[in-house]
Amino acid sequence: MEKVVLVKYSEIGLKGKNRREFEDILISNIKRSTGWLVLWRWGRILINVDWENEDISKLSKIFGVQNYSAAYMTRADLSEIEEASLVMSSMEVEKGMKTFKVHAKRAQTDFPYGTYDVNKLIGAEILRSFPTLSVDVHDPDFVLNIEIKENEAYVYSRKIKGPGGLPVGTGGKAILLLSGGIDSPVSGWYAMKRGVSITALSFTSPPYTGKESEDKLIDLMKKLKEYSGGRDLPLYLCPLTPVLEFLKDSAPKKLLLVLQRRSMMRIAEKLAKKVKASAVYTGECVGQVASQTLENISVIESAVSLPVIRPLAGFDKIEIVDKAREIGTYEISIRPQVDVCSLFVPKRPATKANLETVVDVEREFSDKLLKAEEESYAMIKKVVF
Ligand code: ATP
Ligand code: MG
Repeated sequence: MEKVVLVKYSEIGLKGKNRREFEDILISNIKRSTGWLVLWRWGRILINVDWENEDISKLSKIFGVQNYSAAYMTRADLSEIEEASLVMSSMEVEKGMKTFKVHAKRAQTDFPYGTYDVNKLIGAEILRSFPTLSVDVHDPDFVLNIEIKENEAYVYSRKIKGPGGLPVGTGGKAILLLSGGIDSPVSGWYAMKRGVSITALSFTSPPYTGKESEDKLIDLMKKLKEYSGGRDLPLYLCPLTPVLEFLKDSAPKKLLLVLQRRSMMRIAEKLAKKVKASAVYTGECVGQVASQTLENISVIESAVSLPVIRPLAGFDKIEIVDKAREIGTYEISIRPQVDVCSLFVPKRPATKANLETVVDVEREFSDKLLKAEEESYAMIKKVVF
């Protein structure tokens, strides 16, 4: 018998070509993130890995994985299945388990025993070998699963929950507006959860922001990379100083924030064209922060024609913080930093900016604002993780 890991994925709603693509991309993401030998068999992903000596919990970070199990693969032969079942049960006994049931499944094969017989025969053998165990068919401490196929069988007891979602790479590409804050990395995680490949864009403001800001962004990217299915995760760093300084000297104070944000959006759209991304993700959450009232969201978004997706729109702050902790970005996000957007912004920015006023103000700048944006864009720097 051989140690393998069985990976189950949810194929609900996936048909024909989509399903094939989902499987191919999931397999290549697992290969890339782990370096293991991954095969597709019986509508299931099978990994050749010694799960006793290797860390299979990596699979908990690969989107598309519904659950996975450390299993023994044997030939479709009752005595081999029995041997694997006893080894598996001994591991459960060592963990203190007291009750069990056997759950056999079989494909259409010429295997000489039905599932009822397999349950009974293997169950009896387990009881004989482990006097501390007893059968409980309703609420057992562990279920010994046996899956019998044409030529082989799988024996496993635990299903470890995966992250669900869709494999990164099945959902196209988007720009993630990544600040050093708590929210935007979580938004990026949700983008990837639905299969979207992200290209991050962060605005810095040298000399007001320094190396700590960049280091923080780099650490956030490294953390997000753990969930990218082994795919490249590019980060573009864009110094926004020319835009910020132009606006500081020329714009009405109350409107600074929305004007800065509109510039960010236009630069994001430019980058999206270059890297062929078709949406922008932000960490915005509908609420009372000045930049995040529905009025301001609408004024900011109307600067661009790309769809802006806000996975956190309906979250409470505490829910975002919990998620950030769970995915490991929180501790990085709370490191102190200079917030680019509040550098020159007054304490009370407009919370209900009016689109016509904002467009009029931008028109008065003629092409000076666009020039400043071009200057910022020209200094963009790419780092790949
Ligand atoms: P976060 O915790 O993500 O910083 P926030 O609650 O501080 O969010 P805002 O400061 O209003 O909210 O920012 C809203 C969104 O705008 C951010 O989630 C991010 O997507 C984007 N954003 C803000 N600042 C930057 C920046 N310097 N570079 C790139 N994107 C930014
Ligand atoms: Mg912020």
